[in-house]
Amino acid sequence: MTQPIITTEGKRAYPPRMSDFTKPFWDGVATGSFRTTRCDACQRPSFPPKPICPHCWSDQVTWIDLSGRGRLYSATVVHAGPAVFAQDLPYRVGIVDLDEGLRIATRVLDETRFDQAVELVVLAYDDGPLYAARGISG
Ligand SMILES: [Zn+2]
Repeated sequence: MTQPIITTEGKRAYPPRMSDFTKPFWDGVATGSFRTTRCDACQRPSFPPKPICPHCWSDQVTWIDLSGRGRLYSATVVHAGPAVFAQDLPYRVGIVDLDEGLRIATRVLDETRFDQAVELVVLAYDDGPLYAARGISG
């Protein structure tokens, strides 16, 4: 599944650090693909992607594509944030339960209510991608 890509002017306020291990994740986000790692031993996915399974400690993991869909579990509005995000204030952040059973933290772009369906979108900044959630009907 490919996530919608939203062209976003400017640079990311606090770009994520990319490592050799996380590069496949960020390369995927840049093209609208949201992925993570799944353990080859116990088959459980984890997020963020990890080189070692947090459930059984296996170091055999495989990259898998995620649906990019879930439900909003929780959210709050940040009115007083770190100085680096001052230009974004106020902004909403939340916790999304993905359809695959993973719980992730993310920016939330709209006023989606709790337990409503959301999709992840790519925010394509001038210097690279970030992701966020927004509500969908259904
Ligand atoms: Zn495992």
